Amino acid sequence: MPKRASEPEVRLAHMSGEIVDSDAYDKAFLPIGATEYHGPHLPYGTDTIVAETIAEAFARELGGAVVLPPIAVAVSHHHLPWKWTLSIRPDTLMLVIKDIAESLLHHGITKLVIVSTHDGNPAPAEAAARILSQEHGMNVAIFKGWQGTSARLLAPDWEIDGDHAGQSELSMALYAAPDTAWPENATAQPIQFTDLPVELIDTFDGTVPLGYSGDATKASAAEGEAIVNALVAHVVPYLKELDARGWQRGTWMSRIE
Ligand SMILES: [Zn+2]
Repeated sequence: MPKRASEPEVRLAHMSGEIVDSDAYDKAFLPIGATEYHGPHLPYGTDTIVAETIAEAFARELGGAVVLPPIAVAVSHHHLPWKWTLSIRPDTLMLVIKDIAESLLHHGITKLVIVSTHDGNPAPAEAAARILSQEHGMNVAIFKGWQGTSARLLAPDWEIDGDHAGQSELSMALYAAPDTAWPENATAQPIQFTDLPVELIDTFDGTVPLGYSGDATKASAAEGEAIVNALVAHVVPYLKELDARGWQRGTWMSRIE
């Protein structure tokens, strides 16, 4: 998302060597989004916009962190029935994450937070994180499930949906990148059931023939702002605690201490 004038720059792609070549920066955030069909009211890059927005908000509040350029084409095989959706294989994504992380390790950066906003990506991200931990002892944390977490945090004041191109995704676009949203094209669609006993890994067109679901007519920039603020308040104190503890596991995590 474009940086607001009052905010410090955290995007590596917009920073000079003079700025980042300092011991002040020892952590990186890696946003992972998607390029896939989001109906007539949202852009193909919606998930990437959401991932960057959340990662930048986390990095600004945490301090000492840069946000890497996002991985904007990821695992979207389940959305390929819709034209112009792009996808890479889960194993390709896993290797791309691993290569980026090993570049960081080359420079002595050992702390990485992956911010995934798309359901195809957490599995390859976790595989990469486990390999990076086993092979290099790298500290990799994964943030995922922004819709479910914000729904829990904001209830009952806000009802955050779990839909694809529904209310919450349009709210995030209206907040973070309003030039990329067409709320006048939004329609009210049935809400997807996300709390199912098992998860069938399949293409998305069987359950959602239109390619999007949820009531996007109820979206608002205020809801997008509430989501980002709630996630920052929930996640960043924990990241600060991780920092204070040298990113090492301990009984403090289980509250046994
Ligand atoms: Zn999306």
